[in-house]
Amino acid sequence: SRLKPTSTTTSICGYCATGCQLKIHRDQGGNAINLTPQSKYPVNLGMACPKGWQALDVLHSEDRATTPLLRNANGDLCEISWEIALSEFTQRLKSIQRKHGNESVAFLSTGQISFEEMAFLGCLFKFGMGFIHGDANTRQCMATAVTAYKQSFGFDAPPGCYADFEESDVIVLIGSNLCIAHPILWQRVMRNKRNPDIIVIDPRSTETAQAATKHIQLKPKGDLALLHALAHCILRDERIDKDSISATEGINEYREFVRAYAPEKVSAKTGLENEQIESLARLVSEPGKRVSWWWTMGVNQSYEGVRTAQAIINLCLITGNIGKPGTGPNSITGQCNAMGSRLFSNTTSLVGGHDFQNPEHRRKVAHGLGIPEDSITAQASMAYDEILAAAEEGKIKGLWIVATNPFHSWIDSGRLARLREKLDFLVVQDMYRTTESAQVADLILPAAAWGEKDGCFINSERRIGTIKAVHQAPGMALSDFRIFRLIAHAWGCGDLFSKWTDPESAFHLLRDLTKDRPCDITGIRSYQQIDDAGGIQWPYPKDSLEQEQERRLFADRKYYTSSGKAKLLFSSPAENPEPIDADYPFQLLTGRGTSSQWHTQTRTAKSAILKKLYPTEAYVEIHPKDAARLGIEDLQQITITSRRGSIVAQAYIAPTVQSGQLFIPMHYPQVNTLTHSSFDPYSRQPNYKLCAVTIRI
Ligand code: SF4
Repeated sequence: SRLKPTSTTTSICGYCATGCQLKIHRDQGGNAINLTPQSKYPVNLGMACPKGWQALDVLHSEDRATTPLLRNANGDLCEISWEIALSEFTQRLKSIQRKHGNESVAFLSTGQISFEEMAFLGCLFKFGMGFIHGDANTRQCMATAVTAYKQSFGFDAPPGCYADFEESDVIVLIGSNLCIAHPILWQRVMRNKRNPDIIVIDPRSTETAQAATKHIQLKPKGDLALLHALAHCILRDERIDKDSISATEGINEYREFVRAYAPEKVSAKTGLENEQIESLARLVSEPGKRVSWWWTMGVNQSYEGVRTAQAIINLCLITGNIGKPGTGPNSITGQCNAMGSRLFSNTTSLVGGHDFQNPEHRRKVAHGLGIPEDSITAQASMAYDEILAAAEEGKIKGLWIVATNPFHSWIDSGRLARLREKLDFLVVQDMYRTTESAQVADLILPAAAWGEKDGCFINSERRIGTIKAVHQAPGMALSDFRIFRLIAHAWGCGDLFSKWTDPESAFHLLRDLTKDRPCDITGIRSYQQIDDAGGIQWPYPKDSLEQEQERRLFADRKYYTSSGKAKLLFSSPAENPEPIDADYPFQLLTGRGTSSQWHTQTRTAKSAILKKLYPTEAYVEIHPKDAARLGIEDLQQITITSRRGSIVAQAYIAPTVQSGQLFIPMHYPQVNTLTHSSFDPYSRQPNYKLCAVTIRI
């Protein structure tokens, strides 16, 4: 009877951008006892992956941050009251601002908090506290997809929906290990009754590649050349949709450009036979067949991610695979609220899907929020890597990290340890006091976790869903929303945010800001309506008809560009920033290793069950030929070294990687001491997927 619930509520899972809804069962006091996946929700249809099933367990960890902590003169973190914490926060950051100006402090935030909270942070920091620079860890996740869509469609607008997995005849997964990265979406593929071709384009023989009907095992970063070659074959053979092309700009230039990409011309770059490319081109342009393309971090986390994503978009546009069931160039992102960050974080885009550089937008947002127009500057924020580079140069002196762990997760993470010395003040706001980032903070602000607060997330198919407080935050931990309110008052700008009384009031403010933007959600009246509808996909303007459960963009072939046409954008593949050589002869691939752990494992490692499902110690996949040549035995400890750092890992000998390549999952702390600090030039997304390493035995 201890576990017999007296009531049930719902909440969107707080890990990945699939956005499964969970039913949370509660006792008489309203506290969560256990959970089950929601069968009526159109995303997960009664399913959840191990992380979702274990979502409540990780709230009870010993190393939750339960009081504010301040580092004393001896270097120890000491418990303090909220009053002292707020006073330290404001005095020290104001002192830096007075001495060094508004560009001397930055924040680094996350796609893991609700969009009301991330909007509050972005607005408070920029419009209230007067600083300029802030970015979110969504830069590591989907900045590439955002930029690609913005440039091609005129707005960051993923066109499809998850139902398309069940509606396609040909499903192309590129740089996506869907089986383990988005396991519930893989289940949607398995539910497809159309007997689809499932194509995986990936250098590694992933779990998904092994389950696919066809694995195109190309060389690392051969994807852009391959996509251009596919366009070459399709345009050469006129296997095109003329109506769809008539809604685009640049077809003549694109035809001319891909003429140079005959399959035989790209074999060195891709490692593929001509016929592999020709037959794939025929498959993805088959008249009458619905072809959907899905990409994740294999595309996004690259030095040429934006043009690669746009090469996928181009293929959909020329073959007419957009705006219809079972089609689309669809990016699936990592984090539960990645799309919320895209629209509301107030980092690179002005809150509510606006532009900082557009005076009309600045006026509209200022009016909507009830703040002076001149509190919104046109100056663009630096991107994540630029903020860290400025900190390295001593220009950024104060850093406020909220619910993310860059001292593990950022590329070439050794740089973080070095730049830490340059910072005068580092604040970390987190649910745990033990993350790599919290351990080096001057001040830790204890935050409530998912499950301990209300708000909304937006998933990769543009679906808004609600999260609920179903558990009491421990000790003095407060929701991020309440922390921002306290900081606004302590800073002296509380009046500007008097309407931000609770998450739902903030939602109403933010909703009204979206009026007449592509992401218009002014038709949503309340959180309750979102719950009743089974989540609501944007756009949802006033007077929208009752919500259908799945909606796609661009069925009318009208895009958000000034001409109303989609742009065909392209460029030649770039040089790999760190090719292998005699000293560093292996190509290192990184990625997600399991469905049971999440990112830097700060939460999921707290679950005893999840821990049992995945090795605690780092491992490296190595091809049997390479292992034999180097005399490495299975499970032997070996050292992988790049020009920047080293990691000791257990050798897993398996032909999952090709000879000359290694794979280490992203979840282990030292992995990013290896990765190479290079970025996509348009999206500034880090190139996690490829660097040169050597093996020491
Ligand atoms: Fe669903 Fe992702 Fe949560 Fe797993 S982690 S239950 S796939 S939302």
